[in-house]
Amino acid sequence: ESMQNVVILGATGSIGASTLSVMSAQTQRYRVYGLVANTNVDKMLALCLAHKPVIAHMVNEQAAMTLKAALPPHIGVTVTTGENALIDLVTSNQIHTVMAAIVGAAGLLSTFAAVKAGKRVLLANKEALVMSGALFMDACRQSGATLLPVDSEHNAIFQCLPESVQTNLGHCSLDAAGVSSILLTGSGGPFLTAPLESLASVTPAQACKHPNWSMGPKISVDSATMMNKGLEFIEARWLFNTNAAQLKVVVHPQSVIHSMVQYRDGSVLAQMGNPDMRTPIAHCLSYPQRITSGVEALDFFKLGDLSFCEADIARFPCLHLAMQACEHGQEATTVLNAANEVAVDAFLAGQIGFTQIAAINESCLAQVSQSSLKSIDDILQLDSLTRQHAWQAIKRIN
Ligand code: NDP
Ligand code: MG
Repeated sequence: ESMQNVVILGATGSIGASTLSVMSAQTQRYRVYGLVANTNVDKMLALCLAHKPVIAHMVNEQAAMTLKAALPPHIGVTVTTGENALIDLVTSNQIHTVMAAIVGAAGLLSTFAAVKAGKRVLLANKEALVMSGALFMDACRQSGATLLPVDSEHNAIFQCLPESVQTNLGHCSLDAAGVSSILLTGSGGPFLTAPLESLASVTPAQACKHPNWSMGPKISVDSATMMNKGLEFIEARWLFNTNAAQLKVVVHPQSVIHSMVQYRDGSVLAQMGNPDMRTPIAHCLSYPQRITSGVEALDFFKLGDLSFCEADIARFPCLHLAMQACEHGQEATTVLNAANEVAVDAFLAGQIGFTQIAAINESCLAQVSQSSLKSIDDILQLDSLTRQHAWQAIKRIN
């Protein structure tokens, strides 16, 4: 088997760390060819010393200069910055696999470039797909890119689907495969049972303390509002070429089952495991083979009860907004994603309360007009317009 060169977009983040951890145990198969981050020079420097990539790319120009100055020359890492260099890196002939793990809309351009270049794209950056849906899936089909879902729920669903669907992901009918519904599980986050009236005053630190998963700040807040499940609902709609009626959200606080597929004959297939992203990452890296991930085997004798319930819309209005946006179409989901990124940033910065995240999202969604999104440029324009609306809504609150 030949060595596969991998680029990690978002190398300094939580998914980046898990990816490097899996790859480190498989150096005969995967080479860390490129590492991409934004501003975190200290972390990138440590990663460069440990993994010796060919290219280290910092989106922030100042950070690239600082990194360059700090790297010992004998280590042989080339530091780059600028959009062209980033696109050159992900589309390079040298590259086989791209781990798309930049957080938020900032990941769209590079992830989309990898798709258009026909790479094997490991998709963690769900926001990119939520923003660009049909364009993204069409680009995959046209280029022949292999799209593999890293998001644990979508990875679970993928694993529960037949090979005929896996190899034609997003472009075949689930009905024809006998699927009757997709059950998207979610833990419900840290506030599943908190008194409703306490939610207005929860702090960023409380919101980021997820009961089962350890993740970056943005997705942690999204898990607390269940906007994460909403974004995943939209992600699933595109990845699996399904409709909202076939998608059901199931709250499962233990995060042992990572999602399920229900078939026409009554069979339900579930994928289980310890809540550790190294499992889906290893699956995506090696599919259709299996490699070790470093994750401990699930011990059924130590597991407590598994429980399931419906998501409470009054507690999780963001989930409801996302499901509605999914039915409305691409403009609405692009707007919702942008509004939510601004609202989450404002919450993390202490500028708005937790329950105001949903209010900002709702006020931006109310301004969705009939526009048609024909290109990534159109999408980025709507994204930036919505960010202005969201900041205005935040100013009105304060
Ligand atoms: P983190 O916040 O831990 O990491 C974010 C990464 O993105 C960092 O490397 C950061 O670089 C980089 N980044 C941020 N802004 C930019 C930018 N403008 N240009 C280039 N790079 C940028 O996030 P996570 O690892 O938790 O999440 C990454 C993605 O994966 C998200 O889309 C999330 O929804 C998804 N995901 C994460 C899961 C998890 O368990 N963490 C599970 C499922 C999906 P820097 O450090 O320099 O700022
Ligand atoms: Mg997930």
